[in-house]
Amino acid sequence: MPQGREGPRPVKLRRRHLARAVSAVVVAGALTTCATTPRVEPVDAATLPSSAVRAGTDWRAVGDAAFADLAAYLRVDTVNPPGNEKRGADFLAGLLSAHGIASEQIDHGDNRASLIARLPRTVDAAAPGQGPICLVSHIDVVTSEEARWPEGRGPLSGAVVDEDGDRVVYGRGALDMKGMGIMELHAMLALQASGVPRARDVVLLALADEEVSSIGVNAIVTDEHWAKVGCTHAINEGGIGLKDAIVEGQTVFAISVGERGVLWSRVIAEGPPGHGSTPIPGRAPEKLLLAMKRFDAWRDTPTIHPALYELLAEVGREAGGAQGFVMERPALVDLLVKDRLQLKPTTKAITNDTVHLTGFAGAHSPNVVPSTVWAQYDVRLLPGTTTTAMQQELSALIADIPGVRLEVIEAKEANESDWHDPLFRSLQHHVVDGDARTVAGPIISPGFTDSIVLRWRGVRAYGVVPVAVSAGESATMHGDAERLSRRNVERGTRALTLTLVDAVAPAR
Ligand SMILES: [Zn+2]
Repeated sequence: MPQGREGPRPVKLRRRHLARAVSAVVVAGALTTCATTPRVEPVDAATLPSSAVRAGTDWRAVGDAAFADLAAYLRVDTVNPPGNEKRGADFLAGLLSAHGIASEQIDHGDNRASLIARLPRTVDAAAPGQGPICLVSHIDVVTSEEARWPEGRGPLSGAVVDEDGDRVVYGRGALDMKGMGIMELHAMLALQASGVPRARDVVLLALADEEVSSIGVNAIVTDEHWAKVGCTHAINEGGIGLKDAIVEGQTVFAISVGERGVLWSRVIAEGPPGHGSTPIPGRAPEKLLLAMKRFDAWRDTPTIHPALYELLAEVGREAGGAQGFVMERPALVDLLVKDRLQLKPTTKAITNDTVHLTGFAGAHSPNVVPSTVWAQYDVRLLPGTTTTAMQQELSALIADIPGVRLEVIEAKEANESDWHDPLFRSLQHHVVDGDARTVAGPIISPGFTDSIVLRWRGVRAYGVVPVAVSAGESATMHGDAERLSRRNVERGTRALTLTLVDAVAPAR
């Protein structure tokens, strides 16, 4: 800065004033010119084919039957590894056959199997592109630290207890995702019992091995097996109804319409081995540290996917006030909300490509310099970033360090389904279940499910477990004391049944 002109103090003040004036102008400009996210036309529920089914079904009885079946299903040991999903497939086959629905199993060997059951259409009146709807679940569940679960309510107990004026069932898979599998099965039965004419097939798909290496879905999408499935649309896990998610007192159902891609990688460093007492230049651990610092400093530019703008607008319309005004307007969301989304791991994950260190290895004893060491990264990519582009970008970061390279362990491209679709809109309407303080909208999930594979097969896949839970209850998935209430089982089965009724009813 040139000497002898103005002192630092007035310059500082001027800068601050200028900054304030600029933000005032930007905010004013955004307020006057920015458009709101287009509104999804509210549905007149009375005109829907589902209105008669909603009024004429004994949901209490439907919920009780589904809840009892869930308790029994949770007692079937399908912990993965090793899986043993044939046990779960046999259990579901038994429930289906008791209601006159045949099923078939795809044998994956080692007592592992996936199940397909079809409720065929009753009229030939499907609209173009509106083919069979798959109800997808996975039979396997993750492992548990049983000692951390409540006494007598362990991961394989299916124990039913009275809590908060309701009954609650405990077991691994209550939320992820045997609960959903049972709700889907009972929605299929309730659809059949309703007598509503069906212009589309409904296919129950219970898959093996979602939690480890996706044996089930990878087999289903092969030409050999896909001929038996042939869905154009799927409902699967993904989001969930979260109480107090963004606004106090409001429940938000985020329905997954896309999933981030994966680039699981290792950075491998090689150098001369030797004695730890006399440092050798260019040794592998030193090079790895340099590479890791570069990866650690890498940052994406946050972006908001159109799905998230739409979800925030739904939240804002219900919340109202100044907060609601902002959330309905993408330009204001960019200006005032985007930075705040970077503060929480979950919202940061859905607005960025991310590079996360998940471990390193290669050490021997402290006095030995190893010739090879590596660090492992979980890299996730939003739709729009390809695995190839990201691999090139990360490789370029370390290209000048000799003996260091990036090795890809697994790559999956991100994908998304168009959610401007009648099935999505039905699901969005029915998960709300007529509750004034509940909203639903689309989102891109931070992680992936079997839906990422179904989308490669051209399926429009939407993911939500249609139950309303607290953040604490949601954290029991893959955690301790996983459970689901009878009321939620009833609510979820009703949401899925009514979604199906509206989706399969012949066009009027
Ligand atoms: Zn799951």
